Amino acid sequence: MTGRYSRQTLFTPIGEAGQQKIREKHVLIVGAGALGTGNAEALVRAGVGKLTIVDRDYVEWSNLQRQQLYGEKDAVDRLPKAIAAKSRLSLINSDVEIEAHILDATPEELENLITGVDLILDATDNFDTRMMINDISQKYSIPWIYGACVGSYGISFTILPGTSPCLNCMLDSVPIGGLTCDTAGIISPAVQMVVAYQTAEALKILVEDWAALRGKLVSFDVWTNQQTAINISKAKKEECLSCGKEPTYPYLAYENQTKTAVLCGRDSVQIRPPNRQHRDLTAMKEMLEDKGGRIEQNPYLLSFTVNDRRMVLFNDGRALIHGTKDKSEAKTLYHRYFG
Ligand SMILES: [Zn+2]
Repeated sequence: MTGRYSRQTLFTPIGEAGQQKIREKHVLIVGAGALGTGNAEALVRAGVGKLTIVDRDYVEWSNLQRQQLYGEKDAVDRLPKAIAAKSRLSLINSDVEIEAHILDATPEELENLITGVDLILDATDNFDTRMMINDISQKYSIPWIYGACVGSYGISFTILPGTSPCLNCMLDSVPIGGLTCDTAGIISPAVQMVVAYQTAEALKILVEDWAALRGKLVSFDVWTNQQTAINISKAKKEECLSCGKEPTYPYLAYENQTKTAVLCGRDSVQIRPPNRQHRDLTAMKEMLEDKGGRIEQNPYLLSFTVNDRRMVLFNDGRALIHGTKDKSEAKTLYHRYFG
């Protein structure tokens, strides 16, 4: 391993002492899509001690254009992203402890994963999960780095509990909810730029160089050549329910019901039962065999295609219904075929 981090330790703000700190830290990355794979690769190469990566999806061909840890075989095998990412990351740096979870993070699950975590990186594609990360960060006083991109546009902000405004404070002033990849598509340089901003801030936090943090909300468009950095410290609100004087952490409230969500940029709906349940995929496969569709199975999921609809069931009971954005149709299909 001699010299592995030599270029990084030669960089004065990190040095040998900083490298040791990076080595002692644990980072949680929520999402293993474009931002998640970029950040994960950078931090694993930088020699972070432990990385926990959480993702609810599996690899598809449309991911390969920008999700840098995946290859064609992962798409053919429909490997869950958490699994494919872990296996690639272990090849890059076997010294890093990598924990991978296939799940659509609920507040409870995120709270279970947070023990010992020094930093959270947002690599999600949806508003609900970001607000959940924001509340977890405030509740447990763990910094997190917001990042999002769509088209050729990207945005990032570092949130230090107790110091910066939180995402909930910013809702009125920053178009966070409006970012969607539904119609605009995405190009990889926009991803790489957000990853670069997030990873740079992450390294500063890991080596505890707090003074070096940017402190501003940065946004850019790599196609129209715009770039802004805004000081939003005034956005911090004393009455904020996430970071204010009397926080209630509204986005961690437990929802005891089946949750349906249309996935970002796709004709797909996710169905999540109220409680995690273990589904025996092989038994399910046998039950589906006389329904006239095409069935494929790997150790993590079962794919069933019938009448132009492809349905993917994970062994935690969650399903992705492809070919529709209609939540009630998706729910009906789920119950018809998966019980
Ligand atoms: Zn706040």
